[in-house]
Amino acid sequence: MSLLQVQQLSKSFGGVAALEELSFALPAGQMLALIGPNGAGKSTCFNLINGQLRPDRGEVLLDGQSITGLDARRIWRRGVGRTFQVSAAFSSMTVLQSVQAALLSHHRRLWQLWRPADSLFRQQAMELLDQVGMAAQAQRACAVLAYGDIKRVELAMALSNAPRLLLMDEPTAGMATQERQALMALTRRLVNERGIAVLFTEHSMDVVFAHADRILVLARGQLVADGAPAVVRADARVRELYFGS
Ligand code: ADP
Ligand code: MG
Repeated sequence: MSLLQVQQLSKSFGGVAALEELSFALPAGQMLALIGPNGAGKSTCFNLINGQLRPDRGEVLLDGQSITGLDARRIWRRGVGRTFQVSAAFSSMTVLQSVQAALLSHHRRLWQLWRPADSLFRQQAMELLDQVGMAAQAQRACAVLAYGDIKRVELAMALSNAPRLLLMDEPTAGMATQERQALMALTRRLVNERGIAVLFTEHSMDVVFAHADRILVLARGQLVADGAPAVVRADARVRELYFGS
């Protein structure tokens, strides 16, 4: 059984269909890219899965159990993680403290008592930082990090609930090509080591074709293609959308 199953998911905003009857399945161990022009419905799809939005129709199943319409916190607890576009760079905390804070945010009572100097969850935070290659920079302030390193910290934060499914909406936005490739390679390693599934959006076709196991193509809320990179690249409708031929 697939880890994630999306069945005929639909959402409209004021009469405009952002997503129409989208169906797909994502098994554990796969990296699935969701691509499509601006306004295609990619973020809407993410937000319907993570509980930020409720669908008008359709179902989202995790391990065969419906999570449709549950609130975001419940879905997070079930093991759906996400990276946030809000940058940790504006934080006055250190790298270590940011990840400690993410770990603590799952414990409402501790969270209220926590002060950044506390050692709570320090070891777990260091383990996560080690996994994203940021342990050596644990004591640095987030505000002084290079952009690519901030993204690594955000990834460590997103792993704080030990997700089985990780949603990454434009994780490499604003990055140089080399940094993009590095972040996706790191994501691949985490997928392999943890046996999780990743659903991500990405603008750069080079990155998508290099790192996705499978690609879904959306246009105006509708699924245009779903297949392996080579199949999607050869699809006539996709070529029209992306390459104008
Ligand atoms: P993408 O992420 O692929 O660029 P979105 O999912 O953000 O696309 O948007 C899909 C469509 O839904 C667009 O037409 C967008 O204007 C509309 N839309 C998305 N979110 C909202 C919202 N909160 N209110 C109104 N319209 C929205
Ligand atoms: Mg978007």
